[in-house]
Amino acid sequence: MQPKIETNPYAWVERSLETIRRAGWYREPEIIEGSPGAVVLKDGREMLNFASNDYLGLAGDPRLIEAATKAINTFGTGATGSRLLSGHRILHQELETAIAQLKQTEAALVFSSGYLANMGTISAIVGQRDLILADQYNHSSLKNGAILSLAHINEYLHNNIADVKKQLQEHRHQYRRCLIVTDSVFSMDGDICQLPELLELADKYNCMVLVDEAHATGVFGATGAGCVEHYGCTGKPLIQIGTLSKALGSLGGYVAGSQAIIDFLRNRAPSWIYTTGLSPGDTAAALAAVKIIQGEPERRAQLWTNVTHMKNNLIENLHPEFQLLPSDSPIICVQVSSIDILLRVKAQLLAAGIFVAAVRPPTVPTSRLRLTVMATHTT
Ligand SMILES: *Cc1c(COP(=O)(O)O)cnc(C)c1O
Repeated sequence: MQPKIETNPYAWVERSLETIRRAGWYREPEIIEGSPGAVVLKDGREMLNFASNDYLGLAGDPRLIEAATKAINTFGTGATGSRLLSGHRILHQELETAIAQLKQTEAALVFSSGYLANMGTISAIVGQRDLILADQYNHSSLKNGAILSLAHINEYLHNNIADVKKQLQEHRHQYRRCLIVTDSVFSMDGDICQLPELLELADKYNCMVLVDEAHATGVFGATGAGCVEHYGCTGKPLIQIGTLSKALGSLGGYVAGSQAIIDFLRNRAPSWIYTTGLSPGDTAAALAAVKIIQGEPERRAQLWTNVTHMKNNLIENLHPEFQLLPSDSPIICVQVSSIDILLRVKAQLLAAGIFVAAVRPPTVPTSRLRLTVMATHTT
């Protein structure tokens, strides 16, 4: 007879949680009450909000709310199926056309989130015989998409073109396809990638490029198309990913690129094929947001005025113990020397009515306060 082993197979969970707590890494969500915006309610108090990705203040815009409400009244709350079965609506088609028009690409495809767009796209376009060259500070969804693809992954030093070149010279010939993957705006640092240089190397070494415009769409470029437009790289051969949940104030993700890439993804990206279509409300809100982004450049101008104001103030007034990290975007990070100090400063700011994000390992290598500026802040 087998001896009965008297152990609880879940006992490790408490032990692991204890390890996370001891390191100061334990996290819990905090409730925000009422409407989104530059000022939000938290614990019944008004807080100046520097922790939102709603850069243009669209998540609470009456026009998005009306578009979503109207779509729900017409089409219901759920898409009821995957896009290839029963979940495809005219709204999806309109949104994809609008995104392709914003990005000046042949086509676009919307996913249930930016995370799923990255996972599905990367894992569909490269495989075991291929190489991924990835910036070491890339977003989690890019990293996990790369792992899922089973391609060989080489990380290059953050924003270091010389390192990309060196790795291409040394390794490109050993692989079938090569994909260079990067955030355009680095989400936990606020600096931007060197896209023209990456595209030049890609051209020379026959590589695909995938750029994640999650924090750039609506924010960068004359029409809000993102860093690709900002750098004058519109129309170059590349795959652009983004989210509907930051400057677009809704929920969902997208891929924009050639018609062939989009047709391929519709047939080969499991995180698009085997999941329910975007809800009518989210889709309609995102569609309204794309139109506002194109039609109201003054929102973007105000955002950048506010960003400059905030940066200048920090440069002048920041305590020498803290370090302002280099930023080219509305994401502004202040590095602090320990998790203890980080949590203390965050608590003091909360007490003063200022809501900021405290970002710590393992999300980032060093502890930092992360502030995001919105168009709807006042100086
Ligand atoms: C937020 C973010 C994503 C994920 O987008 P969601 O739509 O929120 O899933 C992907 N990439 C980057 C760089 C991001 O900052």
